[in-house]
Parts: sequence; C-alpha cells; structure tokens
Amino acid sequence: MEWKVPYIDLPLQYRNLKSELNSEFERVMNEGSFILRDDVKKFEENMASFLGVKQVVGVNSGTDALYLSAKAVGLKKGDEVITVALLPYAIFAIINAGATPCLIDIAEDFNMDMDKIEKAITPRTKAILPVHLNGRACQMDKLGDIAKKHNLIIIEDAAPSIGAKFKGRCVGSFGTTGCFSTHPMKNLSSAGDGGFISTNNEELAAKFRLLRNLGKTTKPEFSCLGYSSRLDNLQAAILNVKFKYLNEWANRRREIASIYNEKLANLPLILLPEPSQGDFFDIYNSYIIRYSRQQELCSYLRERGIEAFIHFPKPVCERKELNIPYYSLPVTEKICKEAVSLPIYPEMNDKQIDYVIKNLKEFFKNG
Ligand SMILES: *Cc1c(COP(=O)(O)O)cnc(C)c1O
Repeated sequence: MEWKVPYIDLPLQYRNLKSELNSEFERVMNEGSFILRDDVKKFEENMASFLGVKQVVGVNSGTDALYLSAKAVGLKKGDEVITVALLPYAIFAIINAGATPCLIDIAEDFNMDMDKIEKAITPRTKAILPVHLNGRACQMDKLGDIAKKHNLIIIEDAAPSIGAKFKGRCVGSFGTTGCFSTHPMKNLSSAGDGGFISTNNEELAAKFRLLRNLGKTTKPEFSCLGYSSRLDNLQAAILNVKFKYLNEWANRRREIASIYNEKLANLPLILLPEPSQGDFFDIYNSYIIRYSRQQELCSYLRERGIEAFIHFPKPVCERKELNIPYYSLPVTEKICKEAVSLPIYPEMNDKQIDYVIKNLKEFFKNG
C-alpha cells in the first residue's frame, strides 16, 4: 500500500541528501575504509561535543550499547536493576548480563515514575536504568538525588532521544553511561543498525573500545573477553552527513508536535503528549496520543492511508515466554491499551499534517 502519510519517510530523506550521501558512499568505498576508521572517530567526536560529554564510543546497536554498559559497570548475578516495562531492550540487557530487572511503573509522560524508585530499592539494588522515551527526558534531578543517596549506578537508555534535554542538559550526559541507537526508526539514523555509548568516565570509555572489538588492544592481542559490536565506518560516514541537520530536524519535529497539540486539543477522550516546556526540551522521536478504543482508531487511520502504529502491545513482564516475574504496573498497562503513534518526521509537509488532523477529527465526529 502506498501511504498518503507514512510513519517516517527515509526514501524522501535520502532524495533530499542524495548528493552528499552518495559522495560519502563513493569516498568510503574507494578508500576501502570499513572497520574502525576515521569516520567512526569523527562521528564519536561530533556526538561527544553535541551531547556535552567527554567520550562517545560507537557500537552496532542501541541494544548492544545497553548490554555493554551493563557488563562494563560490572553487573552480575544477584544484582538488581530498577527499570521500566514498556519495551524489552533494557530488560533484556540486564538479564543477558546476568542481573535481575526490578520493574516499576511509568508516569503519564511514558517515562519512569520517580516516586516509585525508592520503594523498589533493596540491599541488592546496584543500578537504575531510566528510559528516555519518545524524545522526552526523564526527570533526572530527582533520579540523580535518589541514586546518590543510595549509591546506585545510573545507566540511561536514551536510544530514541538524541538531543532531548532536561534543564538544558542532553540526555545521556547524566548517568555513568548513556545508550543510544541510530536504527532507521530513530531521529538520527544510519542505513541499518548502529548505536553508541556516551560517558564522562575515561576508564569506562577505554573499556568500551576493548569490549566492542573482541578485547583487542594492538593486534593480535586480546586483553579481555570481548564482543564483535563495532559501529561500521560506512554507517558513521552516513551519520556524519545527517549530523549536520540534527538541530534543524529536531526543530521541525517540535513544530509538527506543537501543531498536533494545538489542533487536536479539543478532541474528546484523547490524551495528548505533555507539552515540551519548563524543564523539558522534547525532540519528538514519536508523537503518541491515547484513546480507549485504540485498535479502532489505529485501523481507521491506516484505512485512510495514514501509517499509525500501536507500539506497545503489553508490558514486557506479561510475556510468559520470557519468565520474568509479574509486576502490577497499572499506568504501563493502561498506556499499552491506549497508545497510538502518529506519523512524525522532519520531511512531513503541512498538507500531510493537515490530513492526519482532518482524519482524527472525522473519526471523533463519526464515532
Ligand atoms: C530503539 C530502542 C532501543 C534499541 O535500539 P536498537 O539500535 O534497535 O538495538 C533501545 N531502547 C529504546 C527505548 C529504543 O527506543
């Protein structure tokens, strides 16, 4: 089906950047620079200065960024990590590293409910793993105070939120490590998988450089049990081209979100994202509305050529096959039953925005 309004439009983004991207592709191919070459280093420097951190280390996905963080900070069997349950990535990283996720509920903005953290702390708690979802930061001042008081490590999952800020500081610059993804669904995307880790700890950064590359120091020495999880040089070259547009794209996403917020404000029974104001600078990697008849609303939009999604089918702890203990998480459960993601991407034009709004209005008029 040809969407009138696709969820995102990467072919259009490519057409807009074609000459720049193609010339980088040709350069990298002609040089044969594929593994840990200058473009990776340049991307890491670009991103470290953008985020305001000392070090960025490119890896091959956001999921690996989380897993390598869990390993590098020394999580092990018996350790508990407090996190949230809308998405599997952080939970999988914790379990795969041998530790135990301890799940708490989220607040109405889809992010960790800071008031639930302290009750979940036990003598075994080693870390808190907040997820900055949808391009919105968690309340990092509250979280930081709690972590400090109880001497806990913070690993930030900032995968979909490159450039989102709390009190003027980028997510990924608060914790011991910040984990990011450049998956095609994220606001800065590679042509396939990619990710990176941010940190202000030089020792940890050096550890990540070893871990991502089989523990290799100077070839062919192996200094630790490592993994094969490098950010490809060609992907880094692509990311360096798109990096120049990151702020411009964030501004357009914010503009679209404010149009949605304004035009959808009077619709009944629809809960809109909280506005980006005060302490929060949101970059709207997603724009998610809430409505009780979620399936009906999503199908209605899709039938009219609008590629809406239901992104959170149920809390991760309700998937029996994963063998995670059940946690009662009423807000998480409610959001899973109500959330519908609307198209939002920087290349979306005003006609497409109007079309989405018009159809939402019609849905409520007819329903
Ligand atoms: C996309 C995403 C990830 C995983 O990133 P990948 O690069 O796909 O592995 C992790 N956490 C969150 C919150 C994400 O949105």
